[in-house]
This record gives sequence, C-alpha cells and structure tokens, in this order.
Amino acid sequence: MSHSPIRIYLDNAASTPMDPEVYDYMRKFYCEWAGNPSATHAHGRALRSALEEARRTISGHLYCKPGEIVFTSGGTEADNLAIRGAVEANGIAHIISTRIEHHAVTHVVEALEAKGAVTVTYLDLDREGRFDFAQLEAALTANPGCLVSLMHANNEIGTVYDLHRIGTLCKAHGALFHSDTVQTMGHLTLNLQETPVDFITASAHKFYGPKGVGFLYVRKGVKVKPILLGGSQERELRAGTENVPAIAGMAFALDKCYKNLETKNAHLSGLRSYLLSKLNNAFSGILINGSSDPATALPTVLNVCMGSGGDGMLLFQLDLEGISVSGGSACSAGADVGSHVLRGIGVAPDYAQNAVRFSFGMQNTREEIDWVVAKLEAIVKEPVAHGG
Ligand code: PLP
Repeated sequence: MSHSPIRIYLDNAASTPMDPEVYDYMRKFYCEWAGNPSATHAHGRALRSALEEARRTISGHLYCKPGEIVFTSGGTEADNLAIRGAVEANGIAHIISTRIEHHAVTHVVEALEAKGAVTVTYLDLDREGRFDFAQLEAALTANPGCLVSLMHANNEIGTVYDLHRIGTLCKAHGALFHSDTVQTMGHLTLNLQETPVDFITASAHKFYGPKGVGFLYVRKGVKVKPILLGGSQERELRAGTENVPAIAGMAFALDKCYKNLETKNAHLSGLRSYLLSKLNNAFSGILINGSSDPATALPTVLNVCMGSGGDGMLLFQLDLEGISVSGGSACSAGADVGSHVLRGIGVAPDYAQNAVRFSFGMQNTREEIDWVVAKLEAIVKEPVAHGG
C-alpha cells in the first residue's frame, strides 16, 4: 500500500496543534525577555508581572482567585500533585474513583493503594461510562472525609460528568473532590464559585497552547503537600523556575478559546455530528463508545467500534491512508495492552481492537471528514455487527 499524498489530523484530544497567534505571543518571552521571575530586579519583575497576568487571565475565566492557580509542567503533574498532595496533607485513608480515569490519576491511586496508604472504591460503570450516584453516595457514607477523584470528561470516550452534582454530594459528606478537567478546559465553561470542587487540572496542549505546561486549581484553604521540593515558587506548592513563555502562551490560548467558545464549539460539534451521520449512512450498526446523548458528550470526541474481529490493523491502515486517529489515549499507545477505558466500560476485546477515537480541532473541515469516511469504506468492507 502506498502512502497517502495528504494527511488528516483527527487526534486533537491527544494534542491540539499550537495556534500560530499563541506562538507569536510567546516569542517575545523566549527571545527578548531575560531574567528569572523570582529575581527582584527590573528584569525579574517584568517576568513576574507577566506570570501574574497569566494567572489573572486564567482565574478570570474560571471565576476563582489568582492565588488558587498553581502552574505545573502539565496535566500529569497537576493530577499527581492534587492526589498525592491531598492524601499526604490531609491524612486521607480512602479514595473513590473509577477505572477509566486517565493514567495520570489511576496510576497514582494504584501506587498509593499498593503502598498501603489508602484503600480504594472503584465505582461500577455502564456501557456509556456512567456510574450510579447511589453507589457514590453509599461509598461516601461509608468513608467520611475521603478523596473523590472523578474526571469532568473522559479523554477516550468523551462522556461528560456532572461536576456540580458530584461536588455537592462530596461536600455533604465532608469529602475532598478532585476532578481532572484536562479535556474540558477551554472547551466547556467552568464556574468555580458555583461548583463545589477542590482541585481541577489543565494542560495547555489540549487547547491550542504549548506542550509541557498546565496548572492545578486548589481551592483556598484546602491543604496540599508539594511533591517537588526545592525553591519556594508557586506559594511553596511547586518548586522550580516557572516556564514563563509557556505559561503566558497557555493563558493566551485559554483566553482565545473562551472568547470564541460558541463559534468554536458550534464548529466542533458540527463536525462530530456530521461524521456520526456519515458513518451511520455508510455502515450498518456503528457502535458508539461513550454517551449516546450529545448533551453529555464532548464536542471534540467521537469514539466508535467499526465492528468485531479482523486483524486489529484498522488504525495502522488509516495511518497508511494519511489519517491520524487513535484507538485510546496516546499515553497507552505502543504499550499494546488495549484501552483500559474500553475495558472499563465492558467493550469486548474483539470490538475494542476496532475502536477508533476521532477527535476534532478548529483546523478540521467537513471535506476532511468526507475523505476519512471514503477511506474507511474502502478499508472496512464487511458490514458492522451489533454487540460488543
Ligand atoms: N488527563 C487527561 C484526561 C488527559 O487527556 C491527559 C493527556 O492526555 C492528561 C491528563 C495528561 O496531560 P499532560 O499531557 O499535560 O501530562
């Protein structure tokens, strides 16, 4: 098979391309501004003020205080800091979570469980990735003062959870609530004055900003122990010189996303529903992994099973045809263990190996979707069976 002359990128939940305006904005911090933001001289102060401006921009969009934002190297570090830091600082002995959180959460929870620091309740999930609130409430009642870690939207299947409802239940039982909001930051609005959540996390490369930078929101008054030791940056919560160009770029990117939210999400959900209807027309019995209700599905993600059996080479064949998509999270790519999320919602391995996660970005077009469906029709010749 020869390589395709064009390449289509539909893996934006793994990482979005950086917006050229973000790049332009960051350039001056790299090339023209010397200094360390902790230095007290004029060069340092200029960087400090850029850093604080970024913090104000971000907190403004989230309706929280600038001092509640802690800059990190990305979503993974922010999740680690929230969970480890909260467990250690608050003497937490129990965590409630699910088996379909991102590995930046599950691997931390498992490590704490393995060393005997905590016991864990994993909530049961249905085929759309939902848990039962009655089971959450029972676990909260049995474990007062525990930590709940439930993501805002799943990165593989796009199911969106009701943060307000979860947070209200957590507060009623004296539990701390951490939510990985990496996939919703810049895509869904979040009002932290109204949402009872103690920690949320973000990663700039999921909203057209640079890779390797993110942040953790810690509600004022909630205790966290740092996981990196060194300098006293970020109110002693995250040692290390702040990456000012990346942080400034992240704030710029987030600001742009929220200012253009309606147009952006209309475009993205338009692409999602266009692809879904084209797939339904082209194949009988497309199986959606995740929420069947668009109201609780991320506009950026569509995960479908293209049938069962076969040789499990679908993603490879699409790649050869010039189409970059994924089967699960980029972080498990190459590990050859299949998707823990699809396993967690009960998709049989035979189907899971034919799952494709399409994730959309601002740069994608309907013409690209037409091309992708035409290529899929050529590759997947057998009609798709129901089940899985
Ligand atoms: N959490 C979720 C839901 C993600 O999708 C990702 C990225 O794939 C992360 C955390 C990790 O973020 P980062 O790549 O910035 O470490």
